[in-house]
Amino acid sequence: MNIMSIEINRDMCIGCKKCAEVCPGSLISISANKAKIKSVERCWGCASCLKECPVCAISFFLGEDMGGLGGKMSVYKPNKNDTALHWFISLPDKTSRKIITDTKNANKY
Ligand code: SF4
Ligand code: SF4
Repeated sequence: MNIMSIEINRDMCIGCKKCAEVCPGSLISISANKAKIKSVERCWGCASCLKECPVCAISFFLGEDMGGLGGKMSVYKPNKNDTALHWFISLPDKTSRKIITDTKNANKY
């Protein structure tokens, strides 16, 4: 598994196509109204698709060699008009963390 790759939960996917539209590498396709990553090896982890998904169906792998402890990260925007992003990190030891960032302060991170 590529450490920078994503995983799409097809049961959660509602087929809105937003992830496919924003992926700069055109790596996501939609079939049978569900999203699928075409080539995980080519994903460079920009997280654009995660931020666009309205139902939190996309996770990003946090590789151990990146200090991510082999966990997964997803992101959710509770309010469509809000600038806050809620990042959820789940780790193999079953612990989790939540980080809230504000896109208004993007240049601070
Ligand atoms: S993380 Fe970036 S490069 Fe990878 S599939 Fe999502 S939008 Fe495309
Ligand atoms: S953005 Fe989310 S819900 Fe929409 S097609 Fe992609 S994975 Fe499915």
